[in-house]
Amino acid sequence: MSGETTAAVLRPDRARPTADLIPIHRSNSRSKEHQTMTASVDVAGQQFIGGRRRRGTSAEELVVVNPSNGERLAEDVHASPADVDEAVAAARAAFRSWSRTTPARRSELLHALAAELQGMSAELAALESAQGGKPIKLAAGFDVPGTIDNVSFFAGAARNLDGKASAEYSGQHTSSIRREPIGVIGSISPWNYPFQMAGWKILPAVAAGNTIVLKPSELTPITSVLFAEAAQRVGIPDGVINVVTGHGSTVGSALVAHADVDMVSFTGSTAVGRQVAATAAGAIKRVHLELGGKAPFLVFDDADLEAAARGAVAGSLINAGQDCTAATRAYVQRRHYDAFVERVAELMAGVVVGAVDDPATDLGSLISTAHRDRVAAMVDRARDAGAEVVTGGAPGTGELARGAYYQPTLLVGAAQDSEIVRDEVFGPVLVALPFDGDDEGLALANDTRYGLAASAWTGSVFRAQRAAAEIQAGCVWINDHIPIISEMPHGGYKASGSAKDMSTYSLEEYTQLKHVMSASAPEPHKDWHDLVVTVAGDGPPR
Ligand code: NAD
Repeated sequence: MSGETTAAVLRPDRARPTADLIPIHRSNSRSKEHQTMTASVDVAGQQFIGGRRRRGTSAEELVVVNPSNGERLAEDVHASPADVDEAVAAARAAFRSWSRTTPARRSELLHALAAELQGMSAELAALESAQGGKPIKLAAGFDVPGTIDNVSFFAGAARNLDGKASAEYSGQHTSSIRREPIGVIGSISPWNYPFQMAGWKILPAVAAGNTIVLKPSELTPITSVLFAEAAQRVGIPDGVINVVTGHGSTVGSALVAHADVDMVSFTGSTAVGRQVAATAAGAIKRVHLELGGKAPFLVFDDADLEAAARGAVAGSLINAGQDCTAATRAYVQRRHYDAFVERVAELMAGVVVGAVDDPATDLGSLISTAHRDRVAAMVDRARDAGAEVVTGGAPGTGELARGAYYQPTLLVGAAQDSEIVRDEVFGPVLVALPFDGDDEGLALANDTRYGLAASAWTGSVFRAQRAAAEIQAGCVWINDHIPIISEMPHGGYKASGSAKDMSTYSLEEYTQLKHVMSASAPEPHKDWHDLVVTVAGDGPPR
């Protein structure tokens, strides 16, 4: 399994160039196979508390809808404050034993979880596709196998906590490091990659010996609950992983503020992250923040133009652009600019927009009609402010109008200080802008409050090294844009947050360091006592 899943973590060998994705297909009907797949999984009860799936007890209805066609996928009631208390209490009760479970046993259970999820992968992909309105080929080729690879990675990482060497640094003590779990983690995740985000939150936390209460986005809870339930089936004890659903302003903020939550881990927008950080700061809770992005895509004049154009289309349209690392601002050195714009527009016009359960579909819907309208309004304002729409620039039409579709869109002529260049659109929208010298290109790439990811396209190793060193972002790709891998950290600079997901760096963020300093000899007199008090007979004469 591991070879198969590792290869699927959006590595280049699996990525199909978007140029192959012609002709345009614009149907929006559901396949029989997909219907059976989503219907075969029991999704009743979206709270998973103390090892039991059940309904919430608030007065607020939860309805999960496929945004590509409006179909209702699951119905429940959101968690009440009492449900949140119960979930945190279950996590607290499980902490003592789980934190003392050997790393080897935790690892064994996570390996079993990887196998369990692998067995469910077709159903998980169908549900992930349906609740997020994302193409089945992305859910089946990236979201689900990438998450399972993360489970396998953290199964290994659980046995690999790092620290400095124990030694007699003072000459009179043995100093050693303990890396300990923090306690109960309150986690909050967004809707764009719900299954992956559940993994990124749950795995490093529990691998390090913490217990967790996860609140997924109210729009997409289904696969997070299935993740927790699968963990329980393979023997991860009740209460180690809990899931509660609800809106951010009620259940999310209750979890962040809960007195018995020791650390808050949040992935979402920068605006909400700021509120979460403020609440957590009041109680001096550790905070892990993964926030928004506005990735630059920098094309130098010695770049392979075809590679850059294909990379820009795939990198901006992945998950309908609802990706925190998506290419959003293409800065192209003037010599290549016109040809780049022409080729990107040609490729975008060939993208297959269609039913999300059709394996031929490249671009699915946005997460909701409200979000689609927000994207459309941003593009309209950009147009009003002088930008030109080269392709796209409108919602889906015909059958696609039933869902939250928006066309692949390329804009030119926007001002650097305009909303469309500065703010997150989180839709299938790329803005192209020209630049002249290298200094200008790098300055434009860094002219943003965000710093999550960026790419530089060049044939020169020196330009590549300079871009890697000077771009202020947590990830800089060279001649590619988007791939991630379990072994390497993902996380931001600046307003994109300061935390790391995936990799052993993330595991460390869910631990706290303790220095244990143990006297080497039993004598009551220690040399340093003489600096404070000299007991007769011990030190020099008074
Ligand atoms: P969001 O900030 O609106 O919501 C994220 C989560 O926070 C949801 O579960 C929501 O219910 C909850 N929430 C909202 N208000 C809250 C509050 N006051 N207290 C506690 N919880 C609250 O973001 P979204 O629209 O769900 O997701 C899109 C955003 O996520 C984008 O900005 C995107 O860039 C970002 N994102 C970042 C990463 C990363 O790794 N850096 C990954 C994925 C998404």
